[in-house]
Amino acid sequence: MNECTTRSLAQMDQESHFHPVSSISDLQKNGPAIYTSANGVTVTRDNGETLLDMGAGLWCVNVGYGRKELVQAGAEAMQQLSFQHCFGGAAAEPTIRLADRLLNLFRSTVPGSDMARVFFGNSGSDANDTAIKLMNYYHNLRGKTAKKKIIAREGAYHGLTLASGSLTGIKSYHTAFDMPLANVLHTGCPHYFTFGKEGESEVAFTDRLIAELEEMITREGADTIGAFIAEPVMGTGGVFLPPKGYFEKLQEVLKRHDILLIADEVITGFGRTGNWFGSGTYGLRPDIVSLAKGLTSAYFPMSASLISRRMWDVFEGASEKMGVMMHGFTYSGHPVGAAIALANLDVMEQENLTERAALLGPVLLKALRNRVGENPFVGDIRGVGLMAAVEFSGFPKASAPHKIVAKHATAAGVLTRALPYLPVTSFSPPLTISEAEIIEAVDRYARALDAATPELEALLA
Ligand code: PMP
Repeated sequence: MNECTTRSLAQMDQESHFHPVSSISDLQKNGPAIYTSANGVTVTRDNGETLLDMGAGLWCVNVGYGRKELVQAGAEAMQQLSFQHCFGGAAAEPTIRLADRLLNLFRSTVPGSDMARVFFGNSGSDANDTAIKLMNYYHNLRGKTAKKKIIAREGAYHGLTLASGSLTGIKSYHTAFDMPLANVLHTGCPHYFTFGKEGESEVAFTDRLIAELEEMITREGADTIGAFIAEPVMGTGGVFLPPKGYFEKLQEVLKRHDILLIADEVITGFGRTGNWFGSGTYGLRPDIVSLAKGLTSAYFPMSASLISRRMWDVFEGASEKMGVMMHGFTYSGHPVGAAIALANLDVMEQENLTERAALLGPVLLKALRNRVGENPFVGDIRGVGLMAAVEFSGFPKASAPHKIVAKHATAAGVLTRALPYLPVTSFSPPLTISEAEIIEAVDRYARALDAATPELEALLA
């Protein structure tokens, strides 16, 4: 304890803390960035600096920081029943209420959807692991025991456990860890701006991707493909909006080959795209939906997997064939997380935060276009709801212009994310952000881009 007086917190971190997704050598050289408090859209560092958090943490603090309603709901739930597992048919009131509310919310906001049950977990990654296991369970129960491969997309992000990380389609997450697992296939990334060919229309691009997918299914054999997983908008890859007609044509193919659709709504769920769910924005009718992040606005680690009627109908007959359903976690349906999620949904509804994302999305895009649209390094600006991207183009493949800009952005007082797949800065602020804060954040970002110019020019030299 006395050590605190002789060792700084930064030193202690360097000597004890193994950070996720961090450069070990950078950390040893530069030390950690330590944050001490946050309120609304603003986060504060240990040196007293404040920054506008245009990432909402990791796309997750949808209702903003420091919300008393959520804190109070968590504290009361902890006082009342600090833990109750859900194994063996047990449950607590907030968990039951949350399951019911999520089903109603999805059914009423995603046309044509028919969700029947909710399974709870702790993170986006484990929700996607659950999706894979439930795919296996479903096909096993139907006697289709070979139908186990999963198709994901290049550039996708679905988490970093061994299974969900295998679905992730970004090589830098795989190389050092002997991933992906053998039953995962990756098909083309639906990002027209970068992967559309010269002279190819957006619709022709979509058709090429769908034809490639059909070829993959034929090559592997439809009887070996169990599911296709997709983020409605690919987030970490680079905020890739689906090209024209993509999900409509994709779902037709999946249906024809009896392949389940897993919608990974870990980012797009809970208002981010301007609707409650990205499935509503882009016409998905998924069999499984993975939710996390915005479910509790990250006030508690919690995930939910929604299961469709057609899958549930099969699961209902499971006990005779397979006995007890042997999947679950200690914290599945944690009553404190559920109480916080319910309070989070109350805030979202009372403050119309989905509508707010729909209204403020164009404000963010307009500000970005006005302030950095003419910058010679910027190739594309895009977004939907309150998720947006600035993509840099013309740089050598191995260079990382967006990381240089991110460094200057932090110095200018705005937190943005430099993404790992393409040179993209992403913006995904809390949905509570004000118009003035958006303008201020974009202004800081534009100044950072100016400050980065000599270093960006050096990359091209
Ligand atoms: N799916 C998507 C679409 C994500 O963006 C993320 C996290 N960024 C995950 C899954 C994994 O979530 P977690 O980090 O909570 O495991």
